[in-house]
Amino acid sequence: MLDLRPNCECCDRDLPPDSRDARICTFECTFCADCAETRLHGECPNCSGDLVRRPIRPAKMLAKYPASTKRVLKQEGCPAAA
Ligand SMILES: [Zn+2]
Ligand SMILES: [Zn+2]
Repeated sequence: MLDLRPNCECCDRDLPPDSRDARICTFECTFCADCAETRLHGECPNCSGDLVRRPIRPAKMLAKYPASTKRVLKQEGCPAAA
């Protein structure tokens, strides 16, 4: 099951499960749209994979399969905005 992480790994912004600004890579590294576009240029800094919009899990499925609450933050930080 897709890990719906609660925050951006770069700027720690909240990304609720219904956010259309969440971007993920194939390993579920999670970033906000701002960081994905301005700082990462669509590429995951952890694995170099594509960042794509995270699909919205419908509310009724979310009740049964809740989002992750474990915040993940990139230790060494992300590249600064160009
Ligand atoms: Zn961010
Ligand atoms: Zn990644």
